[in-house]
Amino acid sequence: MVHGDWRRGLILVGNLEEAAERAARWLVEKTPIRTLRDWATSFSLWPVHLTTSCCGAEFAALYAPKYDAERLGSLPFTHPRNTNLMLIEGTLTRKMARVARITWEQMPWPKFVIAMGACAFTGGLFYNSYNIVLVQDVLPVDYYVPGCPPPPEAVADALIKLQKKVREGKWRPRDVEDKGKLEELMQPVYTKAERYRESVVSWRRLLEGL
Ligand code: SF4
Repeated sequence: MVHGDWRRGLILVGNLEEAAERAARWLVEKTPIRTLRDWATSFSLWPVHLTTSCCGAEFAALYAPKYDAERLGSLPFTHPRNTNLMLIEGTLTRKMARVARITWEQMPWPKFVIAMGACAFTGGLFYNSYNIVLVQDVLPVDYYVPGCPPPPEAVADALIKLQKKVREGKWRPRDVEDKGKLEELMQPVYTKAERYRESVVSWRRLLEGL
């Protein structure tokens, strides 16, 4: 905590580290520095390597020499601490939803999410499976890219749109709104699978009794 009148001399009281952190946060939110930060962030969108399903092939194509997403300043990294973008590549199973959420929690702010493919936001081919989680239920999604799978050009388009949004300062730190649902989804996989198995068994018994 910093107290005092600067004309008469500064008196420092309390936790200096905390005061310095608050001052830095205050300074970063001032216009010229914030503009510079947003500009730099837009050209440093580094996705974490987390392949959830077959849309991953298109992700690989986007970063291969033909499309070369690196020229947009986007470079895939393996460690969540060094990344600020998560591309969910298609189907998200309950098991992988937990992995995606834990990885996302480890990434530093500001961080963004792009969901690729029909499976990511409607379930796609597996829409009625007991084991599918929609990305928006576990992560705050910035852009959806439709298709099965979406071509690399469409993903590049989402990346460019995200860059524009960041440069214009139109992003805010967000989280998934329905925490209750998130907690329910983070329950062990077997709970829902078990319920599904029980319903199949009871239907079979019913049919055998006819
Ligand atoms: S959208 Fe199509 S390509 Fe992508 S994960 Fe689903 S089935 Fe696979």
